[in-house]
Amino acid sequence: MSEWQKTDWRKKPRVQMPDYADQDNLASVEGQLAQYPPLVFAGEARKLKTALGAAARGEAFLLQGGDCAEAFDQFSANAIRDTFKVMLQMAMVLTYGAKVPVVKVGRMAGQFAKPRSAPTEVVDGVELPSYRGDIINELAFTPEGRTPDPRKMLQAYTQAAATLNLLRAFSTGGYADIHQVHQWTLGFTEGEKAAKYRDMANRISDTLDFMTAAGITSTTNHAMTTVDFYTSHEALLLEYEEALCRLDTTSGKWLAGSGHMVWIGDRTRQPDGAHVEFARGVLNPIGLKCGPSMTAEDLKVLLAKLNSGNESGRLSLIARFGAGKVAEHLPRLIDTVRSEGANVVWVCDPMHGNTIKSASGFKTRPFDLVLREVQEFFAVHRDQGTIPGGVHFEMTGQDVTECTGGVRAVTEEDLSDRYHTACDPRLNASQALELAFLVAEELSS
Ligand code: PEP
Ligand code: MN
Repeated sequence: MSEWQKTDWRKKPRVQMPDYADQDNLASVEGQLAQYPPLVFAGEARKLKTALGAAARGEAFLLQGGDCAEAFDQFSANAIRDTFKVMLQMAMVLTYGAKVPVVKVGRMAGQFAKPRSAPTEVVDGVELPSYRGDIINELAFTPEGRTPDPRKMLQAYTQAAATLNLLRAFSTGGYADIHQVHQWTLGFTEGEKAAKYRDMANRISDTLDFMTAAGITSTTNHAMTTVDFYTSHEALLLEYEEALCRLDTTSGKWLAGSGHMVWIGDRTRQPDGAHVEFARGVLNPIGLKCGPSMTAEDLKVLLAKLNSGNESGRLSLIARFGAGKVAEHLPRLIDTVRSEGANVVWVCDPMHGNTIKSASGFKTRPFDLVLREVQEFFAVHRDQGTIPGGVHFEMTGQDVTECTGGVRAVTEEDLSDRYHTACDPRLNASQALELAFLVAEELSS
């Protein structure tokens, strides 16, 4: 491992990455990024790894969520605050309901590059490259818009830095103080789950009043006034990732300085490919998406490559099979992990195996299937005696209509009302909270 170089991925076959026409421009952008400060620090990545190690043992639970893709034109303080707020609400439901510490990781401050199922898109007989996320090209269906432009990496870096700055302020500057548990419900007052949340918030407030009366105040307890909130994204655009790699002087290892945790997508996990080569050498916690096509042979190689030291919390396997398919695939992955004696965090992504096209032409996800996949994930782990370590999902604090169903039922006809995602359909705040209540029930049953 010591000979690993941050450029080694360049010698491996790469998929899902753009071919930049202007190599000079690319080199200049890479040079600039390499001079910029890293977005995260090695000590933070190590702390997250320790927290994920606890999740692997069932002593904590990972809550990972956010946009499918962050977008330049949807960048605002309110959008960041609202996603952060929903994460806090969900974490509160899980902590209160399941009595476990929740490790909070946003798909934020770097989630800009997207793998696509086809390299090009045809509209009215015109064929252009697919949109690959704002860090690469534009959604606008024009030849200029779809041409990959390396300078977009600089804008992505700037947006990530500003997002992270606000998240750090929210986490430690009073917003995340547990005494605000009622404030987090603002703008979210309708429906059965909101009432259930308010009821829980009342009980938490009572407990806090009791603790204050007993002399346990926020000044004596940091954990009640701040949260640890981490960032994550798919490490897809390796030029960007390499440029933000920094050597950690404490450990002598390389840090992916672009986010606390990075993951490898289901389309880029070739055991001898560029993405695995990059991820294996960085010290951060790593996620590996596992879809139905993951074989035992590949998984064995990936476990050995991505966690050669078998470190606890280093590797999360993020299962995304689709409702109805978990019982077929998860047990065989569990067998492989067992036979290898590998240390992993089992995480459920109930989003990516449940994407369909609605009759009205929108890409959507029926919320029922999302809930069902989560239930199947827990059922398999119960059956196998293994530990469900977390959930990974796509959501937003905005009141969008992208996934159908939920207590405030979104119908197929509603999809066109507030469909704002630049990529995959996300849960809205109400659906996200409903999911959290279900997960809390599963965890405490
Ligand atoms: C994603 O997480 O947005 C994604 C594309 O996932 P997967 O690689 O599992 O398809
Ligand atoms: Mn997605």
